[in-house]
Amino acid sequence: MYNILDFDMNELKEWMEQNKESKFRAKQIVDWIYKQNIWDFNGMKNLPKSTKEKLTNSFYIDIPKIVEMYTSKTNDTVKFLYEFRDGNVIECVVMKYKYGNSICVSTQVGCRMGCKFCASTLGGRIRNLSTGEILAQILNAQYKIKDRISNVVLMGSGEPLDNYINVLKFLDMVNSNYTFNIGQRHITLSTCGLVPKILDLADKEYQLTLAISLHAPNDKLRKLTMPIANEYSISEIIDACKYYIKKTNRRISFEYALIKDLNDMDECAYELIKLLKGMLCHVNLIPINKVRERNYEKSSLSNVKRFYDILEKNGIETTIRREMGSDINAACGQLRRSYLKSKNDLEGV
Ligand code: SAH
Repeated sequence: MYNILDFDMNELKEWMEQNKESKFRAKQIVDWIYKQNIWDFNGMKNLPKSTKEKLTNSFYIDIPKIVEMYTSKTNDTVKFLYEFRDGNVIECVVMKYKYGNSICVSTQVGCRMGCKFCASTLGGRIRNLSTGEILAQILNAQYKIKDRISNVVLMGSGEPLDNYINVLKFLDMVNSNYTFNIGQRHITLSTCGLVPKILDLADKEYQLTLAISLHAPNDKLRKLTMPIANEYSISEIIDACKYYIKKTNRRISFEYALIKDLNDMDECAYELIKLLKGMLCHVNLIPINKVRERNYEKSSLSNVKRFYDILEKNGIETTIRREMGSDINAACGQLRRSYLKSKNDLEGV
């Protein structure tokens, strides 16, 4: 049995041919799934009975169960905790902006990158999500909020470039007319900096926004919170980013989570300026979300503002990320974590 959401149009057409069905049925099927939200082959009215039977015997449509769903008080953030067929849970968040709905999807169950401030990585990586499992997060959320999702950020749990093949196929499929028709310029992929994969992605020349989780202006400081810094230096990351810009002409977004007394001092800002000056980029400052299991404290608002001012005055385009949904555990991996915890407490594990 296959998850039909893992099949792109060509693969589905091929399957149809191999199973003595007309190729045009592929289009009808994806139409039911992605446009009509019909997730049961028997409900696909224009298919012959025999085709429905064949499909039912060979495929399942893996739409995750919504275990929990929270809407923030301000109604601009909706968080989903999904459960897949094997019992694994992942989370995704929809943020409602003036320009449209943006979804933050997970790419792995857990994560093995080990960033010290992040909740997703606390239990390690359980497994990769398949292409269909990433698509299904959008499909189900869109159905629930009853509105089109126009932007995707790969910034939920997991390291997208550590699940490269499935993520590449996701990028191709999410962009297609027969699924969500979300333009590449409306997609942001966030990575902690797997340099060889960034170089490979650059060669694909997608028009997506690459976000780099930098979080420190030098390797010594970066190594304190991000184990990946032992593998790739900041200068290698910057070189890879420059190559990415050369190939795509896209502006890079650097994520910088401000942690009190660790990376929020003025000298960090000045060091960051030296690093990024003249580059086609933009810095996104994130006041760090407190994670229960971690000791890091959020920078004070005045420090965040000061850091911002230093960067801006020195010609680095900067934004401060608006905090949304902090009342509903919307930080990376927090919801799954607290869910697993309470489940285990109940079961006495
Ligand atoms: N693995 C990818 C994408 C997932 S993490 C990456 O590292 O980019 C998405 C973003 O949230 C990253 O920038 C990550 O560093 C950041 N993040 C993780 N934990 C956080 C926390 N407690 N507060 C603020 N940002 C956090």
